[in-house]
Amino acid sequence: MARKAVLLGSTGSIGVSTLDLFEASGAAVEILALTAGSNVALLAEQSLRWRPQIAVIADERLLPQLRQRLQYSGVQAAGGAGALAEAACMNADWVMAAIVGTAGLAPTLAAARSGAVVALANKESLVCAGPALLQAAKAAGGVVIPVDSEYSAIFQALAGEKPERVSRLILTASGGPFLNWTKAQMECATPVQAVAHPNWSMGAKISIDSATMMNKGLELIEAAYLFDTPAAQIEVLVHPQSIVHSLVEYVDGSTLAQLGLPDMRAPIAYAFAWPDRLDWPAPRLDLAAIGSLTFQAPDNDRFPAIGLARAAMSLGTGGPAALNAANEAAVTAFLDRRIGFLDIARTCEETLGIMDRKGQLAAAYGDPIARAVDIDAVARMTASTVIGALKSPVETGT
Ligand code: NAD
Ligand code: MG
Repeated sequence: MARKAVLLGSTGSIGVSTLDLFEASGAAVEILALTAGSNVALLAEQSLRWRPQIAVIADERLLPQLRQRLQYSGVQAAGGAGALAEAACMNADWVMAAIVGTAGLAPTLAAARSGAVVALANKESLVCAGPALLQAAKAAGGVVIPVDSEYSAIFQALAGEKPERVSRLILTASGGPFLNWTKAQMECATPVQAVAHPNWSMGAKISIDSATMMNKGLELIEAAYLFDTPAAQIEVLVHPQSIVHSLVEYVDGSTLAQLGLPDMRAPIAYAFAWPDRLDWPAPRLDLAAIGSLTFQAPDNDRFPAIGLARAAMSLGTGGPAALNAANEAAVTAFLDRRIGFLDIARTCEETLGIMDRKGQLAAAYGDPIARAVDIDAVARMTASTVIGALKSPVETGT
């Protein structure tokens, strides 16, 4: 029986890898919906190939273009946030949640509430509303399977073990393109240099997050929620080859690791087939060819993001959402060359500090999405003031 699947964010790096995996594995899958933010051309092309019931473009202004491209195809075209939310809960067996940014919050939660297996790539929904998201999935009889390589590794290393016997979760980090740069060099880094990740090919936002190591900071927060583990029991280990995807240490001193090539199709395959495994012609790991694997402690001075993530968690339940929003605003400003590379972390730190002093991080009330959206908005406004006060690299001539 073909599994019914919905792909939220099908035109992104994760979405494309998911369809690529379906193609390469010949997995029995019936696609109910494909969705994209604004890439009409690719969404139409994917829809003509995979024939979902519906294709949704989030930017409603592009709906006429999508309609035109899908004319006579039998694929229904829809646009806007409402259509996106409907696609998220179409009675699918499996939903890939791979929209980037806070735009993914509401559709991911809708998918969790539908009781489907949610393959979760969208970091922001977990960072901003993790406990609510996991609870919603549980209440609906569904399950959240993490798609990121690190939690996929931890998830696999935890299988069959008692959670109370875990002593540490160890998240590996490649260290990004600036691992061996000096602080002075990092101060002048350009967006092109920051996006060029040594091992993984990813969307621009997450590539910058890898360069600042904010990606690992956000992952630390996600791991704390996903595996119900205090942040103090989660550590980060720099491993430039990205072969050991993460590790779990147990009370008896045994440490279990999961290894694989840096290819997102592997964690996607695991999330798709779980609790089984997908038999597909995956590229195999040849450790003899790789030769050596190296590890080092993260440098908290050049990469303050991990410390910021720990601070965000300790400042209040709104801290992670504020950090995430400040970081998104700062990454956009960096990509637009309005601020320098190291200003991304400075913006996050100052935003957290200002919001903490105003008592804006502790507030807790009803609907988790409304709350996350509120904190997100305040953090973006605060970050934008902080960014405005920084000197742009263009002004300073770097
Ligand atoms: P991407 O930028 O390549 O793709 C994002 C997708 O979201 C696209 O399909 C885009 O059309 C859609 N989208 C963008 N804005 C939207 C909006 N406003 N409304 C609706 N849809 C919108 O990003 P990606 O690299 O595929 O990452 C997706 C998510 O997965 C992110 O949260 C990222 O942090 C996470 N993630 C990615 C990787 C990776 O290897 N790429 C690894 C782990 C986690
Ligand atoms: Mg990761």
